[in-house]
Amino acid sequence: MRYFLLICIFFMGLSSDIYAQDSSPKRLKKIVIDPGHGGDKPGAVGKISQEKDLNLAIGLKLGELVNEHLKPCEVVYTRKTDHDVDLIRRSQLANREKADIFISIHCNASRNHDASGSETFVMGLAKTQANIEAAKKENADILMEANYAEKYDGFDPNSPESNIFFSFYQNAYLEQSLILASKIQDQFSTNTKMLNRGVKQAPYLVLYKTSVPAILTEVGFISNQKEEQYLNSQLGQYEIAASIFIAVLQYKNHLEGVIRPLPSINSLIPREAIEKERRAREKEEAAKQLAQKLKESLNQDENKDIKEDTIINNCGLVYRVQFFTDKTKYSPDSSKFKGLDSVYMYNDSGLWKYTSGSFMDFSSANDYREKIKIKGYKDAFVVIFNNNERISLAKAREIESKIKK
Ligand SMILES: [Zn+2]
Repeated sequence: MRYFLLICIFFMGLSSDIYAQDSSPKRLKKIVIDPGHGGDKPGAVGKISQEKDLNLAIGLKLGELVNEHLKPCEVVYTRKTDHDVDLIRRSQLANREKADIFISIHCNASRNHDASGSETFVMGLAKTQANIEAAKKENADILMEANYAEKYDGFDPNSPESNIFFSFYQNAYLEQSLILASKIQDQFSTNTKMLNRGVKQAPYLVLYKTSVPAILTEVGFISNQKEEQYLNSQLGQYEIAASIFIAVLQYKNHLEGVIRPLPSINSLIPREAIEKERRAREKEEAAKQLAQKLKESLNQDENKDIKEDTIINNCGLVYRVQFFTDKTKYSPDSSKFKGLDSVYMYNDSGLWKYTSGSFMDFSSANDYREKIKIKGYKDAFVVIFNNNERISLAKAREIESKIKK
């Protein structure tokens, strides 16, 4: 019964849309730009950004281009700031304003982080499950709206039947919507490096009650690291906005039956903004390199300290004071060592032996041993190393006497 009623509503909607078309000469006079999501509905979330912000940035740039280059065409935004607007109110605005086209701007997301590219949708029968899934994600915003079932004729984004039923709803301006969608995809292909995923149909709620030519464009994947960077860059946002703008000009030519030359993409992108961004990026890169160099030189200094800690006499001998033995290997700066300096450890038959200090002769090491005793290591004693190998005092004397001869 519910679906019977919905089918009636659908046909009533369709017929009133058809009669709404007038026969006066077509002019492109008003564009509704709809930056998707907003406020407490962020849309898809990437590593460095949220979809709602990118949609708004691109939408505003598109509006600026229309205002600057397509006078007296009027721009109406569904939102110009970071606040949410119910999906139904977005389409109602387009209808109330009697807009000539409705452009909803979104960014895509996928669990597959390699997924990339742009695609543009019109309301209609989804041919693949992937297209239904894409619409489901964008439609999910209504779950946060009050009385959504009432407002959207019983639509439930999570119900497969609902998605199939709404797929049958076609915009009365399907043909015009398809022309605009394909021109947008062509322009993305020409002007950006993004993969062209094509023009598709799916049951998007923001489109289904819009009784003017309407498209929803997914301008790239926020879930793809490289594409997210591009979507966040001034160059990316301008290339996308300018591509949509050129497609709008092509659509206008088609609608009005005239051939006007199209501007080049470069003439539409403000070079200062791109230059400014390039300089900022260079600055950031230089700061990063400097920080890396500083870090490396600090590491080198630390290594130098360690080398200088070990004082080897001209016979290749080092005198140290052994103060502690344990099965456990501790860090040289462990609090266990009561703040003793120049802790050096060596392994002897499975035991870790810890020494402190580094001296050129026995008597200096022996003096230091007295200081260590005061710290509580009463059994501390002098040990001698030759090429990092522990040797006896007798062997050390022998080496020293040989060298002195
Ligand atoms: Zn979205």
